[in-house]
Amino acid sequence: KPRVFSGIQPSGGLTLGNYLGAMKRFVQMQDAGTHETVYCMVDLHAITARLLPPEELRNNTRELCAGFIASGIDPEKSILINQSQVPEHAQLAWIFNCVARMGWMGRMTQWKDKSGKDAEGASLGLFAYPALMAADILVYHATHVPVGDDQKQHLELTRDIAAKFNHDYGVDFFPITEPVIEGAATRVMNLQDGTKKMSKSDPVEKTRINMTDDADAIAKKIRKAKTDPDPLPDAVDGLSERPDARNLVNIYAALADITPQAVLDEHAGAMFGHFKVALADLAVAKLSPISSEMSRLMDDPAEIDRILGRGAARAREITVPILEKTYDIIGMLRS
Ligand code: ATP
Ligand code: MG
Repeated sequence: KPRVFSGIQPSGGLTLGNYLGAMKRFVQMQDAGTHETVYCMVDLHAITARLLPPEELRNNTRELCAGFIASGIDPEKSILINQSQVPEHAQLAWIFNCVARMGWMGRMTQWKDKSGKDAEGASLGLFAYPALMAADILVYHATHVPVGDDQKQHLELTRDIAAKFNHDYGVDFFPITEPVIEGAATRVMNLQDGTKKMSKSDPVEKTRINMTDDADAIAKKIRKAKTDPDPLPDAVDGLSERPDARNLVNIYAALADITPQAVLDEHAGAMFGHFKVALADLAVAKLSPISSEMSRLMDDPAEIDRILGRGAARAREITVPILEKTYDIIGMLRS
């Protein structure tokens, strides 16, 4: 079976963007049974933007693990891990730091966005982020990576790193991975600015819906979401110049598992005041079973830690031999 790898950072709470753009797809790929699936809480990535207080990182990681399971990831069917518990990720990342070029990294839009005006003050880890991400994927020889649209450029870099390694050592060792970016919600936008993506690390709370938000909070954030005064159009073309409106229609479509056009077929002519009520009801119906299961799982942190311990042991059956072979190709002495 071809292998799938993907990850989410425990840099904050899970958002609706993470759920629709990533998690929901992870579950579909697991349940299809056509791939071996490896899913990861990438805690080493979570400290690249800022060093989190240790208690916060621990709590975020456990909550993210609860989010995976509550969304439908079965730790028996998939390998579910926390990145730092499988040390081969970081070991292969060092090799890739020496394969990737400074120029490649400097062109990454996530680096530019997250370092902002203060590149001198950003961490070296934030700059090297895509090399660690390439290692996360390639240490499993994963061939398919389901992600949101914002990760497309990092996956191209992963292909470049694999190709350069293979070329420089004259081997056909690392696979050239395929991004899997599909569905109505590959880029869920910020509720206050339809030209920016929704992010868990955005400092402004009302820009996103968190998976742990209760029904009132979800309804309030949707009610306050930015829109325009026009009614919903009858065809998706009518949304092309209306990013905020388009975002709410796409979120509805992704939650209901229908196309954006099917949403308009049902709601054309409605004002956003009405549509937002329907959207809030749908969001609460889909998200509240997940959030209540998450809080139930969080009552037993020791069980979460056991699940991640078992996942790490399973993962290392794959990663240790791949790292050994990599060292051997490079000429690092093993004795
Ligand atoms: P951060 O702000 O810390 O970068 P994030 O919300 O971007 O957090 P990540 O952990 O970086 O979350 O990304 C995890 C997965 O979720 C990736 O596959 C990413 O493409 C996807 N993703 C993140 N935000 C969105 C979004 N707004 N819409 C769709 N997919 C998203
Ligand atoms: Mg991100």
